[in-house]
Amino acid sequence: MHYRLATILLALIISGTHASSTAGVPSSLPGETCAADAGWNDPATPRHLYGNTWYVGTCGLSAILITSPEGHVLIDGATEKATPMIEESIAALGFKLKDVRYILNSHEHLDHAGGIARLQRDSDAIVIARDQAAAILEQGKSDRSDPQFLTTGPFPPVSPVRRIADRETIVLGPITLQAHATPGHTQGSTSWTWQSCQSGRCLDIAYADSLTAISDEVYRYGNEAAHPGVLAAFRKTLVTVAALPCDILLTPHPGASNLWSRVGREATAPLVDPAACRRYAATAGGNLDARIAKESAGSMP
Ligand SMILES: [Zn+2]
Repeated sequence: MHYRLATILLALIISGTHASSTAGVPSSLPGETCAADAGWNDPATPRHLYGNTWYVGTCGLSAILITSPEGHVLIDGATEKATPMIEESIAALGFKLKDVRYILNSHEHLDHAGGIARLQRDSDAIVIARDQAAAILEQGKSDRSDPQFLTTGPFPPVSPVRRIADRETIVLGPITLQAHATPGHTQGSTSWTWQSCQSGRCLDIAYADSLTAISDEVYRYGNEAAHPGVLAAFRKTLVTVAALPCDILLTPHPGASNLWSRVGREATAPLVDPAACRRYAATAGGNLDARIAKESAGSMP
């Protein structure tokens, strides 16, 4: 009896240890990078990217900090759950959250906008988005213009949101950021470009938004009657992204631009690659064509 109880207890301890060791091991240890298939909320080591540009996101979701003596800009807020990690990463790099003046967004989905409300509250920064994105950010939920309307969840609403137009710029001290309308993945999708300089070498950095044509079971990209002009705008986006000033490509999901193989001691690909935006757009174009062909053939699930 005593022996059996001890055996059961031992089994419980072993299974408990196993569960906590797999769940508790971060995908990124200090100085290391993340697994290519890392989860949205896996903690990442904050890291320097180039010049005044820093990575403060998780292993699966980007958040980019651009710093200056006159204040900082943060692009994307990951999920609501990841927000404390972003705040800790900014502090770990020696920057103050209160010095973040502007918060920008790639697109209005909970994995990139879920943490913005809290980040805005904690920093007093001004949130800036294009019209279509701003309306969704303020509601905290998508509408039927979103291809993933039926499958994407709500997130904490953001208020207020200042509007920015396509090609308009934001200037903060030495930082100049340009907004590029790149609708397709969502209507509010926006890409951002800026320059960062290091040892006298200035490079163009592009934070190019997601270009994946994925949807819920109802939405069809090729249904011109339901949403006129959307497919043409998506194709125009691919041309826009291919032409962005782009020495370094960053994306809202770091894996979409293979970031974890481009940074750190074990990097196998260059961080700087002026052809990266063109390749990113070309791959997305192929995927969009395949998606439209599937819709036309009536072979969507
Ligand atoms: Zn998305």
